[in-house]
Amino acid sequence: MYRCDCHLHTVFSHDGKATPEQMLWAAEAAELDHIIFTEHCDCCLTSPYPPESNLVWRNIFNRDTYPAAIEALRGRSKTVKIGIGVELGEFLQDRDLAAYALDYSWDFVLGSLHNVNKRLDFMCYEYTDPEFTFQLFCEYFAELLQMVEQGGFDVLSHLTYVLRNVYRKGQTYDLSRHDEQIRAVLKRAAEKGIGIEVNTSGLRDVCAVVFPSLKYLRWYRELGGEIITVGSDAHRAEDLGKGIDDAIELVRSAGFAGITVFEQRKPILKEF
Ligand SMILES: [Zn+2]
Ligand SMILES: [Zn+2]
Repeated sequence: MYRCDCHLHTVFSHDGKATPEQMLWAAEAAELDHIIFTEHCDCCLTSPYPPESNLVWRNIFNRDTYPAAIEALRGRSKTVKIGIGVELGEFLQDRDLAAYALDYSWDFVLGSLHNVNKRLDFMCYEYTDPEFTFQLFCEYFAELLQMVEQGGFDVLSHLTYVLRNVYRKGQTYDLSRHDEQIRAVLKRAAEKGIGIEVNTSGLRDVCAVVFPSLKYLRWYRELGGEIITVGSDAHRAEDLGKGIDDAIELVRSAGFAGITVFEQRKPILKEF
């Protein structure tokens, strides 16, 4: 099976720990066929962190240096193909910045959401008030639906990712309360040819699940969706490719014909 990790970060993202070269050698060691770098461009207009935190809140790659550095790596490995992409976060919140980020001949654009408009990053909440949690999930899926309606990206990243933060705070949540909203997102994504990512970062976390789960992957398939990419969301070299084989098996069991990779924004199906 063709093994591509379509979601990873390097030091070109503020929270990335590895250099692009280190990621490439890690990809060789993990016997991956293909990796796509997807550095952050977070488009939130105000800081998604509490004022007392010193976190860098605009996680944005340098468009002048990032793609050039990855271009220079092409051909360095005999076994691993390289793609250059972007994880475009919260793009409805600052459309000018989103337009700046998209102005390059990327191979791949992930659309993601780490904080809903005017709220903090999902990692900042304690999730002890069930009504607040319900409200936050409602807003999350509503903004995702708007993102899908707007389009301009290839694949929706880590759908249901709020859950990871809920579990990290020792809480649980019944996601089926939002099935109607999730179905609407998946339906519009399928209709518009927008793919869904199976993000394996949760497998390395307390929740030990992928985002989204098999149930929602099956729904996307039933609704006519065909494009599934797989990504580790690695921010360190040792996480690259982790969970990829499990995710591929999940995609197979959900009834898809294969997994998809992107080159120059075009989907390429790698059949099982
Ligand atoms: Zn993300
Ligand atoms: Zn990411």
